[in-house]
Amino acid sequence: MAHDSSSSPITGCPVTRIGITGLSGAGKSTLITAIINHLENARRGALTDHPGLAAIRHGRWHREIERAFDYDHALTALTSQPPSWPESTRDWSIARLTLDYQRRWYSLRPRRRCLELFDYPGEWLLDLSLLDWSFADYSAHWRDWLARHPRREIAPGLLEELAGIDPAAPLDPEQMESLSQRWSMMLADSRLPPHRLSRNLPGRWLMPGEGFDPDAMPFLPLPAAVEQPAGEYPQGSWGEVCQRHFAYYRDRIARPFFESHFGRLDAQVILVDLLGALRSGRAALADMRAALESILEPFRYREGHWLANLFGRRIRRVAIVATQIDHLLPADQARLTRLLDSYLFELTQSLAGKDVELRLFAISAVTAAQSREDGRGEPMLVGTEKSSRQKIAFTPPSIPEQMPHDLDLVIDDLPTLAPPAGLDRARPFPGRRVDGLLDFLIGEH
Ligand code: GDP
Repeated sequence: MAHDSSSSPITGCPVTRIGITGLSGAGKSTLITAIINHLENARRGALTDHPGLAAIRHGRWHREIERAFDYDHALTALTSQPPSWPESTRDWSIARLTLDYQRRWYSLRPRRRCLELFDYPGEWLLDLSLLDWSFADYSAHWRDWLARHPRREIAPGLLEELAGIDPAAPLDPEQMESLSQRWSMMLADSRLPPHRLSRNLPGRWLMPGEGFDPDAMPFLPLPAAVEQPAGEYPQGSWGEVCQRHFAYYRDRIARPFFESHFGRLDAQVILVDLLGALRSGRAALADMRAALESILEPFRYREGHWLANLFGRRIRRVAIVATQIDHLLPADQARLTRLLDSYLFELTQSLAGKDVELRLFAISAVTAAQSREDGRGEPMLVGTEKSSRQKIAFTPPSIPEQMPHDLDLVIDDLPTLAPPAGLDRARPFPGRRVDGLLDFLIGEH
């Protein structure tokens, strides 16, 4: 492994820590389960095809640590009859493994290494953007987002009502409560199909995690506050309360999470539901790309900026991973990687020459659809539909190799599949490119 950050206090072996994130439904729990399963079966699967991974004899998962990723639960779900998907990530957890290596007697490389996969909601990562914002900045961003399609239509009239509030006027608790409800609904609706937008800040409104209650200290963006960057408002006014609650959220909730965890990460994996965004079209694609750009912004800062210090200290590898590609025919799976490349071209360019290696992947953690031919010899996929549990055959939409510059691309809907039957912990789960991702993250090169 290229990036050992420190030694484990328990085993004394060098530790590599990898953050794994993505918005809800992107596939974090399933991928982490698949990674542990592949490492447990290191000698039986595709890992042996990679020279950088070939020395791994096996991985052992540790259930006894605090906040352990619930691999037991995930395995039970995937290997039951009928199988179901592991539970989604709703808070942070850590999957810790020790990896035993086969070495020649004269090798100086360690015979044992530790790997920690730090799983957390992508909604929280998006809060990175607001760490640098004042309340006026926050209000300005939301004023712009709410004025544009599709948020304008998702929450008709919300922008006008917020804009009508005088930040210096005394806060009206009833209006605050009803606006907060509409605000939360707007965030949830933006996230869900058919819109599938990514930038739904503050992230903990949708994914609070343990110990955070969005209703305890609510705040709303106030378009009129944009004109008052100094933010001096009378006690108890809309401006004073929203600004104070915003600052509390930024400084006491969002920032400490990054400070306690990010300085220790060696690599970061960001899962994206590109197929979902493609089903929603241009607005979802544009919003997802803007979200990725803002997340990776700290890597572009000059040294000395506190965010750059936080990230730049350790994180040297970032993987952006399109998930669930088993919903596509094999030829389209390969095209999706090129499409991702074309979609994120500017972002990869902007990080070229920086101290971070960015790599794009398209994977399926657990392949749930098999490729077959129909009666006329045309390729199609078969799988089990998730809710009805009926066997289905479908012809997925075809994927172009290039992303149109204006992101004007939309594909037909896809079925949601149940996991395949017959998964066994003692054999590597069927997947695609999980081995390649692991090679990038922990391969010895
Ligand atoms: P999380 O919310 O990011 O933790 O995502 P999960 O791992 O819970 O996955 C969310 C849903 O995506 C699952 O319930 C499955 O329906 C689907 N899913 C995740 N990974 C795969 C995969 O590799 N293949 C397929 N076909 N579906 C997947």
